[in-house]
Order: sequence, then C-alpha cells, then structure tokens
Amino acid sequence: MAELKLRNVCKIYPNGALAVDNFNMDIADKEFIVFVGPSGCGKSTTLRMIAGLEEISSGECYIGTRLVNDLEPKERDIAMVFQNYALYPHMTVFKNMAFGLKIGKTKKEKRDENGEIVKDENGEIVYEVVTDRKGNPKFDKFGKPVYKMRKYTKQEIHDKVYEAAEILGITEFLDRKPKAMSGGQRQRVAIGRAIVRKPKVFLMDEPLSNLDAKLRNSMRSEILLLRKRINTTFIYVTHDQTEAMTLGDRIVIMRNGVIQQIGTPKQVFDDPANLFVAGFIGSPQMNFLPGTIAEENGTYVVSTYGSVTKLSASYAELLKNNAVSDGEIVVGVRPEHFSLTCKKSENSIPARVSVYEMMGSEYYVHCILEDDREVIVRTQVHGMDEKLQKAIEESGEVHLSFVESVMHLFNKESEESLSYQKPAPIKEEAPAVKAEPKE
Ligand code: ADP
Repeated sequence: MAELKLRNVCKIYPNGALAVDNFNMDIADKEFIVFVGPSGCGKSTTLRMIAGLEEISSGECYIGTRLVNDLEPKERDIAMVFQNYALYPHMTVFKNMAFGLKIGKTKKEKRDENGEIVKDENGEIVYEVVTDRKGNPKFDKFGKPVYKMRKYTKQEIHDKVYEAAEILGITEFLDRKPKAMSGGQRQRVAIGRAIVRKPKVFLMDEPLSNLDAKLRNSMRSEILLLRKRINTTFIYVTHDQTEAMTLGDRIVIMRNGVIQQIGTPKQVFDDPANLFVAGFIGSPQMNFLPGTIAEENGTYVVSTYGSVTKLSASYAELLKNNAVSDGEIVVGVRPEHFSLTCKKSENSIPARVSVYEMMGSEYYVHCILEDDREVIVRTQVHGMDEKLQKAIEESGEVHLSFVESVMHLFNKESEESLSYQKPAPIKEEAPAVKAEPKE
C-alpha cells in the first residue's frame, strides 16, 4: 500500500522521441488508476518508468515518501503483470508463483559463534550456499563459497502461494506446467506471482489484451474482485476505454505523451475536457456537429442545423468563466442522448436513416443530415412507436432532438470544451525523502 507522486515526468528515448511530456499526478493509497489512450500515446512508458524498467529523463517519481528515480525495480516494492504473462514454461504453476519469493540477495557467509550457519526460528537455513545446476557450490573470486539469503521459509512460501492461488481459484492447477493451461488460467498465474509478493503498488500493462472477448469480460470482473481482496494501489494500462471505465477509480487519458484529462469515469464521460476525450470515451463515439455560438442579452445561443438552444443561466455561467466569445463551435451529442421521432418539432434536426444495427434491446440508427454528415443514434427497441420503427427499418425520414443538459460544446480551433473547469494545479508540499539505493 502506498501513494505515488509523479512530478513533471518526461521520457525522451535515445532516438530523440518525446514519449511522455510533463506527466503530473498524485495517486492515493489503494486507488485504482487506469492509463488509457490509443497505441503509442505513452501509457506503457509511464508505467515502466514507475516500475524502474525505463529511466526517467527528467522529473521525479515518489512511491510513498521515497524518491525512487535511481532505485532498481526490485527495490521499489512494486509488482508488474505483463500482457504476455512471462511464465517459465519448465516450471509448475507453484514454482512460477514461488519464484519471486525465492530469489534473495547474495550475502556474505553468516555463521554463529560456533561456526554454524544461522537458522531461523523454524530451524530452516536462512542463508544457504549457492550451487550450480549439478549441485556443486559456487565460489567467489577469492575462493569463498557464495551464500544467498532466503527471504522466506519453505512453509511461508507454501502458505503464500496457496493463499494467492485460492484468491484466484487456481489451487487445483498448482502442479501443472503453463502449457497445459488456457490463456485465462495462465494470466491468473501471472497475477498470482505478483500477489504473493504483497507489493505496495501493483502495475498491470494490458494484462487482458491476449484473451478473447468473452474471457476478457470475465477476467475484468475478476480483477474487480481481486482489487477488493488485496486492496492495494493499482496502476493499470489499457487502450480499451470500456476496461478503463469499468475498472478505474480515476482514469488518465493520454495522447501523444500528454495527459488530456484525469478524472473519475463519470467525470470524463459527463464533462470531457476536449474533443479528443469526448470522442475516445463512450461507444459508439460522440457525434460532432458544426455549430455557432453567440452572446445575446446576457446569455448564449447555440445553433446547429437549424436547432437553436438558448442556454440556461447555470450553463452560461460556466462559459462566462471561460471567457467564451461568439464564433464557430463543435456541438457534441452522444448517440444515446438524441431522441428520435417521426414528427418534426420546433428545434429538431431533419435526417434520413441510411442503415441500422440491431443490437438486441437497442438499435444503432445511422442517420444522414442535410449536408451528408452521418450521426449515430442509440434507441431502445422496446416500446418503440410503430411509425418510427417503420421509418428506421425502411430508411425513412426522422427528426433528431436533444436537450441542453446532454449537449457538449467545443472551441472549433483549440478543440477544448467551452464549459470545462480546469482543476487547480497540484499543490507542492515539503520535499520527500530521497531513498538511497540499497547496498
Ligand atoms: P503506448 O503504451 O501508449 O502504446 P508507448 O509508451 O509504448 O505507448 O510508446 C510511446 C512512444 O514512445 C511511441 O511513439 C513509441 O513509438 C515510442 N517508444 C516506445 N518505446 C521506445 C523505444 N524503446 N525507443 C524509442 N521509442 C520508443
């Protein structure tokens, strides 16, 4: 369990590519954070810098109060689960999971006053001679045997592996080798290997992307359960917005190495900071319509395709805070927020149905506007008016309308939301302690 702080973290690869640009974020203890964005946006690089697998070009990364920039991965109290599982094929599941517990730091020989090797309270040898594959002891350059410290007794390792295996429901597979297991089971072993170490921070890099769609859905809910059971800090990388929305306490949306928005799933869905976030979060994606905005009698009037909306005082207030002036804008409306009718109303936008997708309880109706722009409307099948159903199925005329509360407005040039209230910059506190690399 630990909080994290990332301050002005940048990554420039040796070839000059700026992969991460000024990443700033505070992550609370036990928070589940998801980094999401299209391929190449810098999610994995950020995660790998936190893990210590990639050097931080500039900026600072703190885990707890320790500045970890110069610490080795194994000194950071983190565990990482990768997309490709990285299991040892020749080892059983038990051994794969126990592996991380067995490696110890090589220590000088430690004997008591009688010359006997030190043992723990269970009589287990804590320090043992390192041997080669044939069981012969290894010697250092001075001809002295090399000793290694065991971190845990055999019983402790057994208990830890069984505890993790039970959490993940893989106890019955502990004697199997990875090749005799399905993709989902292997992924559970990889997660198990990370759990046994009880890390302060759990890092996961696209852990489900090698699984088929059905398994991905069930593993997603398993990760939610896992999170409840092991309750530590999680950072999870994915390109899949559904995964991000369902798993994250907060989501970090990235593009070209730059954070676009940090917020809860509800915040980024309801109040996207810019056109990119608006289009990335939600499926099918938000529709964007060209429009104009004009200040009139102390409020604003938004027009698009003949639909004219006079903004309420509270909406106008948000725009005033952002010093919005008259001009061309982009109006965003999510597919589920349009209402579809056969009858024209005062503010409706006329359209013609091109095709529709039957999704079971919903139709995704593709509508063509007067200038050939396509918009997608999601509408419930149950209880639908017969005339409207006929219009949808026979590519007829329809009318689209929406209310102010579901309307998103963006600056056409900067692509920023006109109503988004930027969060205050992160407050700096007293400098944290710099951790010295261990001997
Ligand atoms: P993501 O995880 O979002 O797909 P990455 O963090 O892997 O993105 O990559 C971010 C950017 O850095 C990309 O433009 C990628 O091509 C570049 N990049 C990643 N790894 C390296 C590397 N080892 N050397 C040079 N450029 C790299």
